[in-house]
Parts: sequence; C-alpha cells; structure tokens
Amino acid sequence: MRGMLELDGSTGEGGGQILRSALALSLVTGTPFSIEKIRAGRDVPGLRPQHRAAVRAAARVGNAHVEGDAVGSQRLVFTPQGITGGHHSFRVGTAGSATLVFQTVLPALLKASEPSSLFFDGGTHNPFAPPFDFIERAFLPLLARMGARVSLELERPGFYPAGGGSFTARTEPSPLSPIEVLERGELRSKHVVAAVSRLPLDIVERELDTIGRALRWDRSCFERVAIPNARGPGNYIAIDIACEHVTEVVTAIGERGIRAEEVARRAVLEVREYLDSGAPVGKHLADQLVLLLALAGGGSFRTGAPTPHTTTQIEVLSKFLPVSVRAEQLSEKVWQLSLERR
Ligand code: ATP
Repeated sequence: MRGMLELDGSTGEGGGQILRSALALSLVTGTPFSIEKIRAGRDVPGLRPQHRAAVRAAARVGNAHVEGDAVGSQRLVFTPQGITGGHHSFRVGTAGSATLVFQTVLPALLKASEPSSLFFDGGTHNPFAPPFDFIERAFLPLLARMGARVSLELERPGFYPAGGGSFTARTEPSPLSPIEVLERGELRSKHVVAAVSRLPLDIVERELDTIGRALRWDRSCFERVAIPNARGPGNYIAIDIACEHVTEVVTAIGERGIRAEEVARRAVLEVREYLDSGAPVGKHLADQLVLLLALAGGGSFRTGAPTPHTTTQIEVLSKFLPVSVRAEQLSEKVWQLSLERR
C-alpha cells in the first residue's frame, strides 16, 4: 500500500471539491489520505451532510476505513481497501447534491471488476453543483468519448429544500483514454428548457421571455416543463449549446426571493460568456474534465482562464497521480490545458 498523503483542505478554492476529488483519486489509486482544515474558510466549516454523503459513498465503494466523518468534522482520514462494484444505493438524506456524490464514486466504479447499478437520492438541481442536465448532456458525452460506459436515468428532480430527487446510473468496467477537445466545431443546435415544480407556470414564461429578448434566439427552441413528480417546489433553466465536438449546458437554479427575470439573466450572462470566449470547454466542465484526463493519463482541452476550482483540482490530482498539467494562454480568452504523464 502507498504511504498516507496529507492534504490541507483550506488551500486553493478551499471548499468541498478538494475533499471529493481526494476521495475519487484515493479510490482509484489505492492511496490513503488524511485531510485537515476541511472547508475551513466557509461560513459553516467542516463536513456538511452532502460532503459526509460523499465520504460514506466512497467508503462503501472502496471498503475504506474512515476516521472523522461526522457532520462538522474538519479532519478526516480515509484508507481504501479495494473497490467493490455491484449494486449500491446512496442517499444524501437532505437536498444536498447527489450528482456530486455520483462524480465522487464514478471513476472508481469504472475500474471495478464488475458492472454496477447505482441509486442516488438527494438534490439533482442545486446551485453550485452540476445539475443533472449538465451531467447527462455535457459531462457524460465527453466521458463516453474517453471510453467510459455509463448510462443515467433521472427518476425525479430534487430541489432545495425538500430534496427527494433520484436517479440511477449503470456503469461497466472501462479504461479511460486521453482525448483532445480543442475546437467546438460547427454549431448543431440550441435548446432552452425552463422548468418548474409546484410553482406557477408564469415563472417559466417570464424566464423564457427574458432569455428570448436577451439572446434573440428563435423561440422554436424553447421548451416549457411542468415537473409532475418532485417532492417540493423548484425551478431551473437549462440551456444546451450543442456543437460538433462538445455540448455546453448552462444552468440557473431558481431560489426563493430571487425574481424569475434575475434567474434568467444569470443564465444569459453565462451563455454570453461561453459564446464570446470561443473555447469549447466551459468553466464548470473544465475542472471536472481535468480530473478525468488525469485519470486517463493525458489529453488536452481549451477553455477560458482557469478558475480557482480548476487550479485547485490540478493541485490535488498532482499529489495522487504522476501527471503534469501545462496551462498555456493562447489568446485573451482562451487557454489550453495539456496533461501528460510525468
Ligand atoms: P463548498 O460548499 O465547500 O463551497 P461544494 O462542496 O458545494 O463546496 P465546490 O467545491 O464549490 O462544492 O464544487 C462544486 C463543483 O460543482 C465544481 O466541480 C463545479 O465546477 C461544479 N459546478 C458548480 N456550478 C455548476 C454548474 N452550474 N454547472 C456545472 N457544474 C457546476
């Protein structure tokens, strides 16, 4: 077994991502780690229920010995002892993001010796986390191009604060190969979904109106959805920009006290930022893709200026894997990240 890595959770972006990425990397490499100062700079530091759910999910998949996984804990020791695929059910228990739990265990299950069928329960459309639509249509296609055999199905959306969303995932053992994502290619289609659960449909109309006026897109690509089966109220917008080599899914999540027009405006700003930059990989996909490429041992992609999430991700992955990442600025708004084995 490799020696214990010691991580400082307050470095870089300093949030839950360092912990989740460390869990994913620890499972795949079999490297135990300890982490202190977990989420030290956040308003409520230490493990929140959704981080603990990720720890427990990783521990189950990796038969790991864990110390310090209580909510509020700022120090954790994680010692994995071999991956077990098969059937697993992971319940966040609150409206915390279940998609982040999925991303934590996914790389390990691709390395398992058997297929897995997984059930997730929690939030599926959370702010500051990848919404299900993004995972399904932006993240998964790139992962599939790398060779991963994964399928996902949303059973019902879960929103803050009621939670209770669920989805299933099936994975088959599949090695990951490096890919290059350097160009978007031709624009194939644009699609805008505005969805509500247990809220007036008027919200959807106001959001689509704001988006229609701001982006001047043909309204034939607008879709209104009344979600029939979510446990509580919720609202989200998902805007797909599907190009030949990559699909970006920009999302905005409705929040109590935030006007529908403002939710739409947030999505519009992100769409404009993405379209203006010309780079194929959007800012959220970038920090997620860099980890996948590191696991594949190489590859490259173009994105905007590296975010704190991306640089933090690079720091963590470099501790677990013999991979180096070169970041090169190609123009005012485009950077290229290239990974290779050290
Ligand atoms: P904390 O509460 O400690 O700030 P966290 O556990 O909620 O942290 P982060 O460390 O902020 O999580 O990581 C969030 C992850 O979700 C990152 O990988 C980020 O790229 C991704 N993410 C955030 N917003 C979106 C979005 N709109 N679309 C896709 N991915 C997103």
